[in-house]
Amino acid sequence: MTQPEPASSPARHPEFAPDTIVVETGRPQRVDGASVNPPIDLSSTFVSAGDISNSPYAYARFDTPAWTPFEVALGQLEHASLPGLVFGSGLAAISAVISLVPAGGTLIIPTHSYQGALASAEQIAGRQNFDLVTVDIADTEAVIAALDEAGQSTSGRVPAEGAAASAGAAEGRTASATAPGMLWIESPTNPMLEVADVPALTAAAKDRGFLVSVDNTFATPLLQTPLDLGADIVVHSVTKYLAGHSDVVLGAVVTSSTGLREELHTERSMRGGIAGPFEVWLALRGLRTLAVRLDRAQANAQAIAERLAAHPAVVETRYPGLPNDPGHARAAAQMNGFGAIISFTAESADKATAIAEAVRLWTPATSLGGVESLIERRRRHPSEPVTVPEGLIRLSVGIENLDDLWADLEAALA
Ligand code: PLP
Repeated sequence: MTQPEPASSPARHPEFAPDTIVVETGRPQRVDGASVNPPIDLSSTFVSAGDISNSPYAYARFDTPAWTPFEVALGQLEHASLPGLVFGSGLAAISAVISLVPAGGTLIIPTHSYQGALASAEQIAGRQNFDLVTVDIADTEAVIAALDEAGQSTSGRVPAEGAAASAGAAEGRTASATAPGMLWIESPTNPMLEVADVPALTAAAKDRGFLVSVDNTFATPLLQTPLDLGADIVVHSVTKYLAGHSDVVLGAVVTSSTGLREELHTERSMRGGIAGPFEVWLALRGLRTLAVRLDRAQANAQAIAERLAAHPAVVETRYPGLPNDPGHARAAAQMNGFGAIISFTAESADKATAIAEAVRLWTPATSLGGVESLIERRRRHPSEPVTVPEGLIRLSVGIENLDDLWADLEAALA
């Protein structure tokens, strides 16, 4: 069997553009008779005589060739110097990262983060005894004030040189243990679509010794590369755009810090809720078309957002691609596109529910990032923060024909 290339070098062909990399990456070596696609390797164990640490693969809870091509692809796409780590779900990836916050430290997290991240953070903070502070992530001054306050209350933990927890310095197993805490960024946020000033926040956090993690699910590495903007760790719900067909649940983490990767690898191996080989194979297959799916979905989203913004039944439309959106300038500066999620607010919860029930082409369902367009009133989830308006509807715009999508939505709005 021809194995995929080993996980040592994410930058296999750094000269290629990202929309080429998604197609080219993670293929088996080019020898006559080799498969064009990596095989699905179902082995739970691998030949490993002698010192087990010398074997690239030993037991599939630790590492398996079934994950390698996808992990290498993610490392390349996120401009990391190391391959990513695939997890059994986005929330498993998030929980592993949040678990790095040391006891006595502080996790600063957006009020409007994905609600599962908030719930997980609350649970882990309680068990691991660290502080949890929620912030308006679009308000840079407020986030910096929260960093200052958290830094003071945990000043005993700050390494002598101040910024030792940043990715460049965090090369030991103590990478997370010496930090006063972590700044969690989601940008754009789910579901409010607020845009954080990522470079300003990462700089401020690093000055104060904090680790920075960015949930890059909405943007994907094709639209935003948080490691280039100063983050230490990038997290994905692979379930969404990367896999792209609403048929797998997976997550991933990417970092360029050897120490942090080792800690996260240990979290994954020791908790043991790992990804299945077939799911990861499907995710790599989905990744092949990410660039064309996103192009089409973004073009649809831009047009739909503009039409919603002009519609009398819509109270407010949030989409960073709208020139008057509060996040537009920041998104234009730090992203390569505005994504394909829109939120808009109807007059009331009842009106929003009626709209989501009246559509015929859009699917009323939770989740996002698949080829099919989805619609959801977010406050139907009891766990959604109460600061999310009752009438807020989140649209995940897919790749169907624009006129069909708009006709269906317009009829439901009427
Ligand atoms: N991050 C964001 C931004 C999400 O929207 C979601 C799920 O909706 C997750 C993480 C969690 O991912 P998963 O459902 O794959 O666990």
